Amino acid sequence: MKGSILVVSGPSGSGKTSLARSVCEELGEKAYFSISTTTRPMREGEKNGVDYFFITKEEFLQDIEDGYFLEWAEVHGNFYGTSKKQINEALKKGQIVFLDIDVQGHEAVRKEYPDIVTSVFVTTKNKHILFQRLRKRGTETEETLEVRLINAMHEMKKIPEYDYLLINDDFEDAKKFLNAVAIASLIKTTKYDVNDFIKEWKEIK
Ligand code: 5GP
Repeated sequence: MKGSILVVSGPSGSGKTSLARSVCEELGEKAYFSISTTTRPMREGEKNGVDYFFITKEEFLQDIEDGYFLEWAEVHGNFYGTSKKQINEALKKGQIVFLDIDVQGHEAVRKEYPDIVTSVFVTTKNKHILFQRLRKRGTETEETLEVRLINAMHEMKKIPEYDYLLINDDFEDAKKFLNAVAIASLIKTTKYDVNDFIKEWKEIK
């Protein structure tokens, strides 16, 4: 069976990355977490090739020219992109491919793979919780924090384009929902050649 793509988006501080990584890890061989490439400076504690592939803007522009990306976007003033090769290999193996990408990436991937994409928008119950989480995370300066909060408002407008809305109040509960959606993404009707099934039933009759 060919694989599926699970897009997980949401504002900074929603906890989407921890959620997606945790569920993906629990699914083991069934799933594959796509590591994006970025020009964003590495944060303390991050590792190249684990959190992202960190490259320069010049290298990123060259990768775009070489057709390396399935999609890429400028988010919060930095470039981010999803590698085509990694994804296609995982799909061939029948894996659930987790993409932790923004709303622009979601739009592009859905256009490219309309039959196999399932998407989840992760957010908090209200903006105050989001502000608190982002501040507590301590990864942002006052300036970048503001950019991320403004972006959050724009991202929220795209919720209707997603299949599911997940309020991440309780991490363990949210994990259960994301796990269920991930597994269900493998049996979407659009993934099958449904006409083959219908034909077979007609033949029996
Ligand atoms: P952060 O800098 O906090 O790691 O990520 C910032 C934003 O970029 C997040 O919304 C994240 O989902 C998004 N992002 C990460 N990788 C990609 C990617 O490959 N493509 C796109 N379009 N967005 C990405």
